[in-house]
Amino acid sequence: MGWIVSVAKASTSAGPRVLVIEDDIQIRRLLRITLGVAGYELSEAATGAEGLALAARLRPEIILLDLGLPDQDGMDVLESLREWTQVPVMVLSVRDSEEDKVALLDAGADDYLTKPFGGEELLARLRAMRRHSVHATTAALYESVGLRLDPDRRQVWRADELVPLTHTEYALLQMFMVHAGRLLTHQQILLAIWGPEHEDDVHYLRAYVASLRRKIEHDPSNPIWLVTEPGVGYRMNLNAGRDPAENPLSV
Ligand code: CA
Repeated sequence: MGWIVSVAKASTSAGPRVLVIEDDIQIRRLLRITLGVAGYELSEAATGAEGLALAARLRPEIILLDLGLPDQDGMDVLESLREWTQVPVMVLSVRDSEEDKVALLDAGADDYLTKPFGGEELLARLRAMRRHSVHATTAALYESVGLRLDPDRRQVWRADELVPLTHTEYALLQMFMVHAGRLLTHQQILLAIWGPEHEDDVHYLRAYVASLRRKIEHDPSNPIWLVTEPGVGYRMNLNAGRDPAENPLSV
């Protein structure tokens, strides 16, 4: 019993994952200490290429990005990230001209911290970034008749029943609900959920869509919400349940 409790504790106490892409060992060490004490889980990359690969694999909640990397400019790393993810990015740099900052914000950076920086300031900025990103998704509760997704609690309800979803199923459903009504291509979805190295793995997507349908649709072989656009992708049809005659969940 005690064993089970401690395992449960360990898994829920894993803090928000931050990926730092920075070649300076001293700064990485400073970040490891500062963020570790504050409860973040830090992953480290010393080059742009490694950083991009880790970003796709680990799906961090926040990325800290140095501009002067040995293999490529941080600005190019930022542009590559923005092709497939909106993860909040904070740039760490000694470049502090207004021109540099404007260019970075235009390229999709969410915040900018000039080196050298203090640990307290970094933590305060991280808290602010997390508040913003939580608010951005909390602003809306995605809902249709009989299907509800609560981004704040990462929970999905079908009628009055909680639907147990894996992390990937949840991410997929959230993407569909956020873009309800719009056609999402296989490639757009694969890039956003699995990252650039799985862009062509349509079989992944088919398998996950099938399992998602088994969990949310009344009749998975005749889906009303998660509709296939043959040869192109999928579309979430949140209005399906609005017509009571069409809605198998309405009483
Ligand atoms: Ca550097």
